[in-house]
Order: sequence, then C-alpha cells, then structure tokens
Amino acid sequence: MDCKKFEKLILRSFDGSIKDSEKRELDAHVQDCTLCSTAQEEYRIILDTLKEKDFPEPKPYFWERLQPKLKEKKEPEPITVWRQWGIRAIPVSLILVILFGTAIILFSPQEGMELSQSEALLLRNLDPLEETLAELEQKDFTVKSMELIFTADENNNGSNNNTRRY
Ligand SMILES: [Zn+2]
Repeated sequence: MDCKKFEKLILRSFDGSIKDSEKRELDAHVQDCTLCSTAQEEYRIILDTLKEKDFPEPKPYFWERLQPKLKEKKEPEPITVWRQWGIRAIPVSLILVILFGTAIILFSPQEGMELSQSEALLLRNLDPLEETLAELEQKDFTVKSMELIFTADENNNGSNNNTRRY
C-alpha cells in the first residue's frame, strides 16, 4: 500500500476536496494501516487546535485607516528625511570627535609637552608669587584711584551744593 498517497488523501479529506471513491479507499486503508490511522488522528488534533485559536479580527475601517498611513510612509517629506539623516549624523560625528581626541592623546609626545611647559616657565620667568604681588599692587592702585575720583566727586558735589545754597 502506498501510505504517502494516503497521507495526501488524509489532508485533502480535512479540506473536503476529496472524491467519494477516494474517501472510501482511504477509510478502508486507515482501518487496516495503523500508521495512517495515527497520522489521520494527529492531523485532526493539529487542525482542531489551530481552529480553536481565535485570531482577533481587525478593528472596523482598519484598512481604510492603514492605507493613508502606508502612503505617508511611501512619500516621506524632505524635512523628515533630513532630520533622520541628522539624527544618524550625530553619532557619526561624535565617533569622529572621540577618535580625533584619542589620536591627539596617543600621537602627541608627552615629553615634548613637558619640555615646552618648562620652556615657557623659563622664557617667561613666571613667578607665581611675583605675579600675585603685582596684581595686588595693581588692585591697590585702582582702589586708590577710585577713592581719588570719589573724593573729587564728593568735593565737586559739595561745591555745587554750596553754590546752590547761595
Ligand atoms: Zn498507510
């Protein structure tokens, strides 16, 4: 017996697309063949569980609402396209900046930097104490000059008041 042929018939029998003669042939075979009878039983169980599963029906006007959205997606506005490109460009530029930074750190000679710093100190003859002292002196000078201005102004006002009084 050709069990493969009967397996196809079993599947067709579930769809109802089977001739009466074929149905009789199949029933006769299944009664004799345990292999095909178990196969028929398994197929029935599988199909029943599939039928039991309830697939949710789409909401009313689902297609009516979906189609304009699909059209929108097909023709994106140039602004949104540019925005998308911009969003994509941000990480790219960040990566480039990071790479550039690491390249500078890696390839710049540390010893050279130290030398240049000490050179700068030697050449400029920078004394932090001297600098602050100079700054303090300058501050003192500005305060003094401000005082002078204010006193002059006060005197001026006083004289003005005096002139007004008389
Ligand atoms: Zn069989």
